[in-house]
Amino acid sequence: MSELFQERTPLNVVTVGCAHGNLNQLYQDIQWQAANEEWSSVDLVIIGGDFQALRNVDDAACLSVPAKYRKMGDFHEYYSGERTAPYLTIFCGGNHEAVNYSRELYYGGWMAENIYYLGAAGIVSVGGLRIASLSGIFKPYDYNKPHFEHIPYGDLELTSAFHVRELDVRKLLQVQTQVDIGLSHDWPRGVEHFGDEDLLFKKKKGFREDSIHGRLGNKAARQVLDHLRPAYWLSAHLHVKFAAAVPHDNATTKQIDQNPLLPAEWAVEVADDQPISTQTEQTNRDELYVPHADAVSNRILPATGSREERIAAWNGFHAVARRTEEAAFGEFLAEMRSGKTAPPLQTATKWKNPDTGYLETVETTLEQDPHPNKRAKNDAEIALDSESENGSENMEAPANVNDQPGPSKTVTTEVPSLDTDGANDTPSLSKLANEEVADSLRTKLPAAFARPPAAPAKPKTPVRITNKLTKFLALDKPNNHDPYLQFVRVTPRSQGVVPTSTSDDLDEPRTSPRIRYDPEWLAILRTFADDLVLGDPNARVPFDLGTRHYLPLIEENMRWVDENIVKKGLLDIPSNFVRCAPTFDPDTESNIQNPQTPREYPNPQTAQFCELIGIDNKFYLSEEECLENIRNAPDTTAHPVHRRGRRGRGGRGGRGGGRGRGRGRGRGRGGLY
Ligand code: 5GP
Ligand code: MN
Repeated sequence: MSELFQERTPLNVVTVGCAHGNLNQLYQDIQWQAANEEWSSVDLVIIGGDFQALRNVDDAACLSVPAKYRKMGDFHEYYSGERTAPYLTIFCGGNHEAVNYSRELYYGGWMAENIYYLGAAGIVSVGGLRIASLSGIFKPYDYNKPHFEHIPYGDLELTSAFHVRELDVRKLLQVQTQVDIGLSHDWPRGVEHFGDEDLLFKKKKGFREDSIHGRLGNKAARQVLDHLRPAYWLSAHLHVKFAAAVPHDNATTKQIDQNPLLPAEWAVEVADDQPISTQTEQTNRDELYVPHADAVSNRILPATGSREERIAAWNGFHAVARRTEEAAFGEFLAEMRSGKTAPPLQTATKWKNPDTGYLETVETTLEQDPHPNKRAKNDAEIALDSESENGSENMEAPANVNDQPGPSKTVTTEVPSLDTDGANDTPSLSKLANEEVADSLRTKLPAAFARPPAAPAKPKTPVRITNKLTKFLALDKPNNHDPYLQFVRVTPRSQGVVPTSTSDDLDEPRTSPRIRYDPEWLAILRTFADDLVLGDPNARVPFDLGTRHYLPLIEENMRWVDENIVKKGLLDIPSNFVRCAPTFDPDTESNIQNPQTPREYPNPQTAQFCELIGIDNKFYLSEEECLENIRNAPDTTAHPVHRRGRRGRGGRGGRGGGRGRGRGRGRGRGGLY
């Protein structure tokens, strides 16, 4: 008999690594494995990205993937309705996505019937299980940029479009209550230290070196994991199965018996409830927080080491990560402070950006775009995957050139600001940028040079985020070496601001759990709605004003959400999937190597969502604006590598006259990004 979905009913969840368009196989394998492992039902499938939602051939023009991997995949069958996902499926974005479609559903939405994209960042609740997700991969040089990319995508925009943005992370860092599951495409940085890293380093060449230098994984996802402390964190991207158990606040763990089909690293639980660190720095709002454990290590610990050392390294992440980035910078600053003349770290050349008219500085900086001129090629990460490139059984992948640190020539128009805890004594890059530019000069520089406000207060763990152990799992992709599926039975333990499973759940027997909006997340989205910057690559994303500033606003928005959404019974995510783009025409399949830039298809789900939460829909585009954008696609003959141009097929929807927005959306190609 079907289970009744009530609060705290465990869910049968299938977690998946990358999908790479293999949906038919994926659902078949799940079905087979579910039968084999005697699961009565599968309630939810969670996919870690590289989903490749190609609706038709032209979407391939918006997918960053080497020619060899440019295939339609199966998604279009689910888009057209030829097939329907047999299980509720949710996923985050990776680095191989139809970025045009992801953009159309920035806040999340149905990409096909029963297949829900979680947006650039998002929290949803499924049967009371709260899942927080961060899409994309982390590249520091794009982190502080606005979401400027849109049709037509240049090669550089095609890759920067899936790079994580600070504003989306900032939203996740405002969450004050416990979630159950975290999801990111690339691994939270440093997580490898909490599993069998030696085996991992044997399997994947280059990982040890990347790990030692603190450059394996996603720094932002790590910040979010540290903040949300979910019971589970799921990732994909590195094409290997790897499990870990990450304690928080120096919690000690003890071995437990568990289902042998689960990763061995998960056979642990917190040994005893550790006393919460003594509260310090009390202010009027601080009763909501407890300080982070104070085990900050100033050393960059080797990937090996005792368990205690690893935990210290984890807790000292912000300091360690900063030192990795700023090692050279630190020396430079120390010398500056001691009055010695240090050799200039940056060599600067003035350069006038023809798109913006701004005078910009071409300089050598740390952890900036390592290969600005080659990035489009290098960012097609799949190409780095030797095992898939040559199809060999060799499990080793070459070191990822994308993440190699080291000086490179690039144009800086941004102020990096990942480091916000103010806990170290080495000025952060943003502080330095802040000090070095005189105000008179600053006003003439691009907006990104505006003086940031004082650093937000040291992050603290909200008192309602109480979990002390995160079980991490990364899985492979289909048809590779390691398993790409894992069955997990998860009991929701989170408690959102408003119970995510309200009494009406108990009214009727259900064969599947409901997927719902998360009230706290909706309040956060309302709070940050005006800060979203689209279109202009040189626009400044409003600075992070800190939780102390945002929290009262979020609380106010919570009241709004309660009145206007929760009390009106509008928390269920409506089944409002709608096809906007043309479905796949098999006759066009041969065009996949040279797809035509598609037009934009502003998604009614986004419009409906914005209306629901009472925010401006910045993704609205009139028909004229859509056509104006597609008109800007360069000619294939002039830019053969851009794989676009209309080849005389005529733009879909005709070529209506109409003026564009005329908002001067400078694209700034040619080395800017
Ligand atoms: P893709 O995203 O292109 O499908 O796959 C990424 C491939 O690049 C995987 O095989 C993964 O092992 C490799 N890769 C991704 N990030 C890193 C990294 O930071 N270091 C190393 N050594 N390899 C990486
Ligand atoms: Mn990937």
